[in-house]
Amino acid sequence: IQDLELVSVTKRYGTTVAVDAVSHHFRPASYTCLLGPSGCGKSSTLRMIAGHESVSDGSILLAHRDISHLPPAKRGTAMMFQNYALFPHLSVADNVAFSLKMKGVDATDRRAKAAEMLDLVDLTALADRLPAQLSGGQQQRVALARALITRPQVLLLDEPLSALDPFLRVRMRTELRNLQKELGISFVHVTHGQDEALALADEIVVMNNAVIEQAGPAREVFNAP
Ligand code: ADP
Ligand code: ADP
Repeated sequence: IQDLELVSVTKRYGTTVAVDAVSHHFRPASYTCLLGPSGCGKSSTLRMIAGHESVSDGSILLAHRDISHLPPAKRGTAMMFQNYALFPHLSVADNVAFSLKMKGVDATDRRAKAAEMLDLVDLTALADRLPAQLSGGQQQRVALARALITRPQVLLLDEPLSALDPFLRVRMRTELRNLQKELGISFVHVTHGQDEALALADEIVVMNNAVIEQAGPAREVFNAP
């Protein structure tokens, strides 16, 4: 049901070809890491899936429907950013419920859904705090709840752990992994860290110079025993 497929997707910025006719079928309900050096086209690929960047060519299918030209909120995807981008003057609960407010969902419903998401990421006790009163890891969990409240079929994560200290980074890997399993949706996670990809991914997609160089189970991609 959550089949995500890139069909010869290209992204050009002027004369720069950032993504060059990339095709890939992401496994449903699995954790995929998009791995590669800086500038190889990972973020552009993710942003095109999210709809934050238009495709220059090709198409993106989700559940066999072409979503390439739909607005981000209508795609069935949600994106979690590196720098959380929480609203500083809104409480944790209001941050999480924000997209529902934009959609016109009434206050009672918003509160209930936000509470459910906060429970999911273990933040119930902090619902009334402001973002500045949270640790980096907690802010990140708010950002996760905020993305997940839209009930996406695919969650897109752009270097979500890079702003965290090494200890927290390792702990958040486990949390992300567990969350993906619990929800049974697809996660597509961009990283330039090989160890991160190995620790998280069911499948690793290696990009280099705007194309996919290799894709497969983590063990195959790295020839691990
Ligand atoms: P990565 O996420 O792997 O670091 P990006 O997708 O961000 O790679 O970038 C791929 C290429 O596209 C790079 O050469 C980058 O400079 C270029 N690029 C990315 N975004 C833009 C943009 N908005 N305008 C022009 N060039 C861009
Ligand atoms: P990072 O290397 O941290 O992943 P990105 O490549 O995602 O950073 O770029 C961050 C922002 O800068 C994005 O909005 C992207 O579109 C823009 N950007 C990246 N490369 C260029 C470029 N060569 N020219 C213009 N904008 C760019």
